[in-house]
Amino acid sequence: MESIERRKFIGLTLTAAGAIALGSIGGLPLDSFAGEPSDNENGINAFMFSQDPLPYAYNALEPSIDAMTMEIHYSKHHATYIKNVNEAITAEKLNYKNAADFFANASRVSAKARNNAGGAWNHNFFWASMKPSPSTLPSGKLKTAIDGAFGSVDVFKAEFAKAALAQFGSGWAWLISANGKLKIVTTANQDNPLMDNSSVKGTPLLAIDVWEHAYYLKYQNKRADYITAFWNVVNWEQVAKRLG
Ligand code: MN
Repeated sequence: MESIERRKFIGLTLTAAGAIALGSIGGLPLDSFAGEPSDNENGINAFMFSQDPLPYAYNALEPSIDAMTMEIHYSKHHATYIKNVNEAITAEKLNYKNAADFFANASRVSAKARNNAGGAWNHNFFWASMKPSPSTLPSGKLKTAIDGAFGSVDVFKAEFAKAALAQFGSGWAWLISANGKLKIVTTANQDNPLMDNSSVKGTPLLAIDVWEHAYYLKYQNKRADYITAFWNVVNWEQVAKRLG
C-alpha cells in the first residue's frame, strides 16, 4: 500500500513537472497534461460494446443446452470478448458510432478488435435467438419468406443444419436477409455478415455458434446432435422481429 501511494506521488510529481515544463514552452494550459482521461480515453462518446443480460437462467435451456455450458459460455467466453474489444477500442482510439458502424469498418481495425467485436456482438445476438422450450415454429411473414427461399421450414432447417455442421473449425452459421432474400451463410471464427470484409453481407436473423465451447461439455464431438437440439430452443418470435 505504502509503495503504491509512493509511486502515485512520484508519478503525479513527474506529471506536474512535465506539464509545467511543456506549458512554459508551448504556452498551453497546464490542464492539457493533467487530470483524468475521459471515460473511454478516446475523446467523446466512442462506442463501446456491452454484454446484454442473459434473457433467461443458465439452466433454462436444459436439456438442449446444459447449464454448465451456458454459464461458462456467458460468464467467461462472452465476458472476455467484451473486455478485450473494449481494450482494443481504447488502445487503437477507435471512434465508431455503434456496432453497425464498427462492423462496416471491420477491415480497418486490428485482428484483436475485429475478432473480439464479433465475439461481443455475435453472442448477444445468439442469446436473444434462443428461449426456453416449448419452442414455436415460424409463422406469418417469416414463414412465407422461409417457404419462398427454401421451399419449406423443414428444408430450411435441414440446409441450415448442414451448413452449421460443415463449417470447418470454429465459426457460425447464419440465416440472413440480403436484398430482400433469405440466405444461409457461414462465417469463420467470430466474423459476421455485418462486417465489410464478409464474403456474404446481410442482416442477421438467426445464428448458431458452432465453436466447440458452445457444445463440447454435453455433446463432445457430436456437433450434429447439438444442432438438432438447438431447434428446441430457437426464439422464432425474435427471428420474425428481426425480419421486420
Ligand atoms: Mn461462443
